[in-house]
Amino acid sequence: MSIRVNEKHGKAENMKEISKNCQLKVHENAELLEPQVKLLLDGALEATKRAYAPYSDFHVGAAIQLANGELMLGCNQENAAFPSGLCAERVAFFAAGVQFPGVAIESVAITIRSDSKADEHPAAPCGGCLQVMRDVEQRQGSAIRIYLKGAGEPVFEAASVATFLPFGFALVAK
Ligand SMILES: [Zn+2]
Repeated sequence: MSIRVNEKHGKAENMKEISKNCQLKVHENAELLEPQVKLLLDGALEATKRAYAPYSDFHVGAAIQLANGELMLGCNQENAAFPSGLCAERVAFFAAGVQFPGVAIESVAITIRSDSKADEHPAAPCGGCLQVMRDVEQRQGSAIRIYLKGAGEPVFEAASVATFLPFGFALVAK
């Protein structure tokens, strides 16, 4: 991701523009991806089968690759008391934080499965999950690569969570 500050001043003398250029790679054929990535996507697909999503019929699976070689799965867990549920990404990230504290997360694959909703194309993580993943990224000091896949092709690849959340919240020390 590149950041460009436009110093061209308009009518307002004290105004400038900041733009961030975010790029995704689009893999048209998932079969041609590296074996490690395919394994991660297979894990995410397996996780969709464990999702509890009777209300949305939108089954989401996430698979995380940790620096120690471990793979963590997460799936969405809905609840009759709606706000009490949690997304697949946060289930996986929080579980990794408990089971492997201090171990860096290298990449995450997220995929979806639904009988009633369009799921051919990848779905981006929600804002809450992006904030959680971005926070982990900042804490560990290294980017987390994201792979997104729907029921069909293609696979989207982003080099960092910041691709989707370029102006994410962060606490800055004084
Ligand atoms: Zn989410």
